[in-house]
Amino acid sequence: MTNSKGFNIQEIRKQFPILNQKVNGRDLVYFDNAATSQKPQVVIDSATHYYSTINSNVHRGVHHLSQLATDAMEASRDKVQRHLNAAKREEIIFTKGTTDGINLIASGMGKGWIKAGDEIIISALEHHSNIVPWQMLCEQTGAILKVIPMLENGELDLDQYSALLNSKTKLVSINHISNALGTINPVHKIIEEAHKAQALVLLDGAQALPHMRVDVQELDVDFYVFSGHKIFGPTGIGILYGKEDLLDKLPPYQGGGEMIKSVSFEKTTYAGLPHKFEAGTPNIEACIGIGHALDFMNSIGVENIGNYEQELLNYASQKLSQFEKMRFIGTAKNKASLISFLLGDIHPYDAGVILDKLGIAVRTGHHCAQPIMDFYSIPGTIRASFAFYNTKEEIDQLVKGLKKVEMMLS
Ligand code: PMP
Repeated sequence: MTNSKGFNIQEIRKQFPILNQKVNGRDLVYFDNAATSQKPQVVIDSATHYYSTINSNVHRGVHHLSQLATDAMEASRDKVQRHLNAAKREEIIFTKGTTDGINLIASGMGKGWIKAGDEIIISALEHHSNIVPWQMLCEQTGAILKVIPMLENGELDLDQYSALLNSKTKLVSINHISNALGTINPVHKIIEEAHKAQALVLLDGAQALPHMRVDVQELDVDFYVFSGHKIFGPTGIGILYGKEDLLDKLPPYQGGGEMIKSVSFEKTTYAGLPHKFEAGTPNIEACIGIGHALDFMNSIGVENIGNYEQELLNYASQKLSQFEKMRFIGTAKNKASLISFLLGDIHPYDAGVILDKLGIAVRTGHHCAQPIMDFYSIPGTIRASFAFYNTKEEIDQLVKGLKKVEMMLS
């Protein structure tokens, strides 16, 4: 079946071996893509190829294998640079993931960039990983954390944002897309306003990279972070993009091998970018794998992916709205392919357990975004998040499953 956007969904699904299995005797329906995505064969093969042919430590060895491993890792950095349209390869730092990237910036800023009375702005829509590091930084420095409030539909209150910005604002750190509600934030406007106030901007792109093209130069964003495991790549790897002049000035995160120019007991000097922020032996296999994941996405076309997923989102929204007791949580105008909802007074956990018995994997709970749940006064939601390998038939399965949930629990 070739879909209206011109790519063959069955051929795509064949690339993901995990999808072709039964769970509890039923065909697996995997709708937990916002938590982590599945891996295409090329990404799986990349790990096998690495360990069976070129496994060796990078950047240090003169021997053949070390050079091959180094070349493969650095070629992957180039792919990330091209994918993000970063101006320089030195602006691409390999991290452990989104959380690690945010902590890297928070830690660096804590070493002299932020002082008591300075202000950091986050939003009511953040994942805990874009809340807690800033709370820790504020505790450490005496800086003040300000929060952009949200509206009932899950969008940010931009008037309030404008009012929060002032000469004390040093950083605005916001997600590009909310993992709990799917809201696509108006990041161009957010960045433009922050820059007018001389504040830096960090975007948490964990939920954006899987669905859309991100051009860091066009955004003019100062820092951008995301995770490999959400873009069909390996776990334990992520990317921090930062403007070269900022990363140059930012103090290093961790000390150790790889990140130094010279070490003596009197004085250590640091390596240049990107190595200054890559202490220790990296997750080499995953550094290489993330490049293959991007190749795979580009072979389908990021725009094709986004368009197809919007079709899935529209289809699912329409089907789910037929439930009389459906309550959508988060109804922003611009949304990624993710639906958070409640069904009457059924507890999300109970619904999740029954759906699992039917082979359907959804996420239930607070999605590491407890302040959002508090805003709506709910314990959590059921979240179905779609990737480009999902189908309308699978959404029909979810609908059937939810009818069963209603029958059993109402
Ligand atoms: N931010 C957002 C918006 C996320 O969705 C996630 C993962 N759920 C994270 C940050 C944290 O990502 P990781 O666990 O890969 O570091």
